[in-house]
Amino acid sequence: MESGIHLVGRVDEPGHFSTLNPASGEQLGSYPIASPQDVGFAVARARQAQRWWAELPLVRRSAVLRRTARLICDEKEALARTITAESGKPLAESLVADVFIAINSANFSADNAAAVLRPQRIPHSNPTLRLKSGRLSFEPLGVIGMITPWNYPLAIPAGDIFGALATGNAVVVKPSELTPQSVLELERILSAALDAEGITSQPRPLQVITGMAETGQALINSPIDKLIFTGSVATGRQVATAAAARLLPVILELGGKDPMIVLSDADLDVASSAAVWGSMMNAGQTCLSVERCYVHRSVLARFLDLCRDKMAKINVGNGALDGVDMGPLISVRQMQKVAEQVEDARAQGADILVGGEPMPHLGPSFYSPTLITGLEPSMRLMREETFGPVLPVVAFRSDEEAIGLANDSHYALGASVWGRTEHATAVARRIHASSVLVNDVLTAFAVPDAPHAGFKHSGMGRTHGILGMQELVRSFYVDVDLAPRMKKLWWYPYAGAFAPLAAFADLLHGGGSARLNAVRRALPALFRRRH
Ligand code: NAD
Repeated sequence: MESGIHLVGRVDEPGHFSTLNPASGEQLGSYPIASPQDVGFAVARARQAQRWWAELPLVRRSAVLRRTARLICDEKEALARTITAESGKPLAESLVADVFIAINSANFSADNAAAVLRPQRIPHSNPTLRLKSGRLSFEPLGVIGMITPWNYPLAIPAGDIFGALATGNAVVVKPSELTPQSVLELERILSAALDAEGITSQPRPLQVITGMAETGQALINSPIDKLIFTGSVATGRQVATAAAARLLPVILELGGKDPMIVLSDADLDVASSAAVWGSMMNAGQTCLSVERCYVHRSVLARFLDLCRDKMAKINVGNGALDGVDMGPLISVRQMQKVAEQVEDARAQGADILVGGEPMPHLGPSFYSPTLITGLEPSMRLMREETFGPVLPVVAFRSDEEAIGLANDSHYALGASVWGRTEHATAVARRIHASSVLVNDVLTAFAVPDAPHAGFKHSGMGRTHGILGMQELVRSFYVDVDLAPRMKKLWWYPYAGAFAPLAAFADLLHGGGSARLNAVRRALPALFRRRH
């Protein structure tokens, strides 16, 4: 077990890799490494499926998604166990933050695809083009490729998959090599929903390919129409570079370093519970985790006392066991990365109030809940994504200072502000992030109606919500001329055309006297002979 656990996602028999339970080291499954040829077949099958899937009436597509939501709910306990076995998170988190989110995404996508796909009449505000009728319709892009991470092995792929399917796309997804089973279960359930809706003989619009970085690269190089990548900034850069080479449009959902601001008028008991949960949930391995906590100096001492007490009560262990609050990190490598950042801060004089050490008696990738203060903005712990169970707390003197500290980052993903509602909302509006929660943490991802996005190094494009689904359709504009027998004023020849056309501009857009004068000068434009 000791040696195996260092190699989560290792290659074993040729052409295969295996997954391990990060809490126990137990081997879970063996999966094929999809070759570029396998990826090509999966994309071809998805392309075939997309044709019939897009032609299926929207009500029937939506019925398949709603049926999928119900089947996920029926299997919630088994799914939660699979997610916990692969990722190490406690069962309650697998249920709430993966399974429930997947169900809500399926229903939201089914309910809202019509709004995204509904054609629109386009008015003509250009006065010279009024005799026209414009109609904008929306078509699915085709085959959407997805490369997903391990930290929310069901919720992240599910949200993107359902949005794509609802809008008539097919999907080829490459889940993380650490947690492929959760997506394979989703594929099975979607297939069962198709069967239950009487669609049995068609190729499936969701194809799953398993493998590592090379399989991801093969997907980028395959003839997909768009890619949604969720993962680290470093990999996101490589993905964007490879996609640029073939002009493949990409959505990038990358890392974060989310600030939490606790104002002087915050409810400290609630805010400290939120800080502890928001930084420790999923062992801190959430893109929207609290990674920096700024607290008004007048309440700092009390806030730290409350956090210290609450952190001491966190029960760390195997997430499959009843009563465990926090599991291991996904791998020893991830645990070492966290430990290095904490040691770097300690060496530069930071105070570790709770934890700050590995927990080898539980297993090689466990790390203790850690509360740390006395930090400088330049420390790695305050600048790099930590992705571990660490709550760094820093004091501020004024709202201005808190806003400046929060915005001093290469990342711009999420944030939270705690205090009296009007006060906290005013501060929230000035934070550079794609979503800011007032008096709550982490739940932005669980609102299927709201877009999920990041800017700066946290990514580009959006998923979730109507805006996310709009990223997966192309607009198609048809403009019909209502005076088809009339040649346009601005067509050839140009000889003698300039002065009357200039007068025409005065007539349409000039001020009072220019407009009056223009009537006579513009008339030749109307009667000009055109070829
Ligand atoms: P990662 O970048 O290591 O891997 C993500 C996926 O990319 C995996 O499926 C992996 O196999 C694949 N991959 C790796 N190298 C590749 C390459 N060169 N080409 C193509 N594919 C490649 O990320 P991770 O460790 O799985 O996930 C953790 C990171 O994801 C954190 O930084 C976290 O903040 C981020 N994340 C962001 C969001 C968000 O919505 N913004 C959500 C969850 C996680």
